[in-house]
Amino acid sequence: MKKYVLLSEVVKIGKGQTNSNTTGSWRVERPVWNPQTCINCMLCWVSCPDGCIILSKKDRVSGIDYTYCKGCGICAEVCPTKPKSIAMVLESIAQSTKEPELIDNIFPS
Ligand code: SF4
Ligand code: SF4
Repeated sequence: MKKYVLLSEVVKIGKGQTNSNTTGSWRVERPVWNPQTCINCMLCWVSCPDGCIILSKKDRVSGIDYTYCKGCGICAEVCPTKPKSIAMVLESIAQSTKEPELIDNIFPS
């Protein structure tokens, strides 16, 4: 039985390949967004290397696309609000907690 997968078998590398590389089970942390404190400065949107910050039709941040997010943490790093409006959370915790509860725990009001 094969015990490992070669990276080259699952990750396509080349120009414009981001949309072909969905996030696998390897993401360690995921960014969680708090709409209550977000000032819509768009810094996370311009900084995300994978274009995972979702904008509404009115050009306002409306969420994060976890299908492609690699968990690099750049969006949380650049967020200027105090406290930050994006926090990195362990993937295992995020997967076992419902989003409203997760947001309440991370960003207590
Ligand atoms: S963690 Fe990285 S890939 Fe994911 S949304 Fe933030 S900047 Fe984009
Ligand atoms: S960087 Fe922070 S405040 Fe600015 S749009 Fe993103 S989440 Fe909102």
